[in-house]
Amino acid sequence: MISERKHPPKADILAIDDTPENLALLSQMLTEKGYKVRSVTKGSTAIRGAKAAPPDLILLDVKMPEMNGYEVCRQLKMDDLTKDIPIIFISALGDVFDKVKAFQVGGIDYITKPFQVEEVLARLDTHLTIRNLQIKLEAQNTQLQQEIAQKTAAEDKFSKAFRACPNPIVIATCDQGQILEVNDSFLQMSGYDTVEVTNHNLDRLYSPSALEIYQQALAKTQQQGYVRNLEFDFSTKSNRVKTVLLSMEIIELGGIKCTLQILNDITERKRLENEFISLVSHELRTPMTSTIGALDLLNSGQLGTLSDRGKQILQVAIRNSERLIRLVNDILDLERMKSGKIAIEPVRCNLKPLLVQATETMQAMATKAGVNLILEPCDAITHVVLYLDSDRILQTLTNLLSNGIKFTEPGGIVKLTAHIQDNYCRIIIRDTGRGIPSDKLEFIFERFQQVDASDSRSKGGTGLGLAICRHIIQRHKGKIWLESELGKGSSFYIELPLSI
Ligand code: ADP
Repeated sequence: MISERKHPPKADILAIDDTPENLALLSQMLTEKGYKVRSVTKGSTAIRGAKAAPPDLILLDVKMPEMNGYEVCRQLKMDDLTKDIPIIFISALGDVFDKVKAFQVGGIDYITKPFQVEEVLARLDTHLTIRNLQIKLEAQNTQLQQEIAQKTAAEDKFSKAFRACPNPIVIATCDQGQILEVNDSFLQMSGYDTVEVTNHNLDRLYSPSALEIYQQALAKTQQQGYVRNLEFDFSTKSNRVKTVLLSMEIIELGGIKCTLQILNDITERKRLENEFISLVSHELRTPMTSTIGALDLLNSGQLGTLSDRGKQILQVAIRNSERLIRLVNDILDLERMKSGKIAIEPVRCNLKPLLVQATETMQAMATKAGVNLILEPCDAITHVVLYLDSDRILQTLTNLLSNGIKFTEPGGIVKLTAHIQDNYCRIIIRDTGRGIPSDKLEFIFERFQQVDASDSRSKGGTGLGLAICRHIIQRHKGKIWLESELGKGSSFYIELPLSI
């Protein structure tokens, strides 16, 4: 039994029968049920009508003069426009009806006259449902094919870009860091073969310090979707160290989350930059030194007395010249350290006296600035022996203390302390000064990075101190970082490995 539907499908039915009474009966019966019915008595008219406006289903009488049902069906099935329309044959009980032929020419079902209303409706309903599902399926199929084509085109573009990109690229899984693919530029830069890297872990490519940068980059990428230009040192297969910038995105490869690591080899650029900076600095140093000598001579009064205004202007000139020579010296210092011209030579020694010495050295500056400089008791490190280049560690400590004092208001505090943490000795320089905004924390150890462009002028700095400190600590196989809260203060941390 068919269930009575409140809203039967509004389907367009084409009924073809040479007996007008049959048609009238069929039409009335279907119209009552909400179908739209077009009735035709001749096969040729039916074919024209079906082509002009393809119906959803055709009811087709078998026995008709001029063109019988089989022929009408055959012709409809030959035309692209009408070939998919379901055709149900109608045969009279006494007729010679060849079912096999009906199916062969493309009919999908048949009903026999006299009709049983329920049977006709049930068959119509079934075939219209099947047809609708078929149409939906075809539409989905087309959409799917379009999507596949688009995806394939996108993948094609991606792999072309991947292969042709002049930047070295590594694709590795997010969770395990397993290398899935590298491009030719990467192989060229690193000196490895494809088989030497693919399916291996990233620790085959990256040194422990590079892996640390990679982990930071991964955490950031997972947070904000991408990371750009993180600098780290990359060791090639033949152990040549290259300076590279890492940019990262997350991509999905075969359903697996992966990192797309795009590298930029800036070794040569850096070398030229450094060469240029040190060349310029060298050239500046000699004339600057003689300028300062001349200014000092003027200041001594040996060449005559200056007016008060003249003395004021002379002081400005001396201050600025001293700042310039400090800058030149810092640049040269950093470059010489980096290129190994100034050796950093750690030897076994005790840290505590260095903390005392650094505090004593900076005491005068702190007093002048009205800042309370405190060396906290650090008994835990009294007998601890570390590998240190004491001059360089002292330089680092005084630089950090000097920054703390410079950027802390009178009445504020700068504290120095140290303790043992796992296999490290941790030194902390904490101030209650103006703090550093969070977006600057990442870059503050880079050359010439200052929170405020006026800091170098107002505080007499060069923007190189922290870069030098970082270099010194890295050369001690240690770590330096900071935490800071704007308006509340900063804490600089240094970790130096304990000697075994
Ligand atoms: P500078 O010679 O300019 O002090 P540094 O590399 O030592 O160079 O410091 C870079 C910049 O970092 C400073 O100019 C300042 O903007 C910021 N900075 C460093 N230390 C502190 C601190 N303790 N408090 C606030 N800002 C600081």
